Amino acid sequence: MTTSRTTALTVLGSTNMDLVAYVPAAPRRGETVFGREFRTVPGGKGTNQAIAAARAGGAVTMIGAVGEDDFGPRLRAALAGADVSVEALRTVAGPSGTAHIVVDDDGGNSIVVVPGANATVTGLAPGDEERIAAADALLLQLELPMEGVLAGARAARAHGVRTVLTPAPAQPLPAELLALTDLLVPNEHEAAALTGIDDPRRAALAFLDDVPEVVVTLGAAGSLYVARGSEPVTVPAVPARAVDTTAAGDTFVGALAVAHGEGRPMPEAMAWAASAAALAVQRAGASSSMPDRGEIDAGYG
Ligand code: ATP
Repeated sequence: MTTSRTTALTVLGSTNMDLVAYVPAAPRRGETVFGREFRTVPGGKGTNQAIAAARAGGAVTMIGAVGEDDFGPRLRAALAGADVSVEALRTVAGPSGTAHIVVDDDGGNSIVVVPGANATVTGLAPGDEERIAAADALLLQLELPMEGVLAGARAARAHGVRTVLTPAPAQPLPAELLALTDLLVPNEHEAAALTGIDDPRRAALAFLDDVPEVVVTLGAAGSLYVARGSEPVTVPAVPARAVDTTAAGDTFVGALAVAHGEGRPMPEAMAWAASAAALAVQRAGASSSMPDRGEIDAGYG
């Protein structure tokens, strides 16, 4: 993909340390089991999208918070190491956000998320509005308090900045947030949970009552785009031997936002994002598995 200009993105979202234990079989209640391996991996949907977008070639600023614990500096360094600007990543008293993940040999997982510092992001700090105003788009997810998400979306709208919302984890969406959303990117499960409609195409069309554009991700089946006044478009996934699909969706969204900001039509941006996500699922790890621009280009078209 040739670049006409660099996309500037601001991400307002979560930063977590993923604490991942690999076990033959997950423990039942009251049971203790030995695990085979343990890893700490920077994560959180906000951080994942920020790193994915930066690796895809975007100029990315992260707004969020980490704690005063040992994880805080590591999380900050992971973002900075991916060339994400961290000047708006606050350090607050108490622990960083953590995700406690148990992965079993069947690839199934169970996850406990403790929000920690993320819970303190209930609004914008001085300078954040200017950072949002300077971007082509603001990327939002639902791992911060809703007041914080809304404050970001309001600032974006006030400055004519496009908002891209990943409605995960799925939860009822305030009407105001939907009204402030320009592009909604649920996966098929979130689309079904939010609309009560199992068919992704019908669910996507139902969102158009509230949001002008929707991309529903469909895992290995690709993604589906609907917009007011145009026919739905399905874009296939890039075939991949999936090793770890963690953060496939975040990789997709980060790359999609970069490509769209460069002026690519949505179906082309989706195909490029599918190349990014396919590369990510072929490697273990979340943020550590995200491809750079050259790799995405090589796997595209
Ligand atoms: P996650 O929660 O793991 O981050 P998600 O459920 O939000 O992912 P998916 O719909 O599973 O998102 O996947 C997002 C995109 O990633 C898909 O549209 C597709 O392009 C790509 N993808 C996911 N799984 C595969 C796969 N097995 N093979 C190839 N591409 C995949």
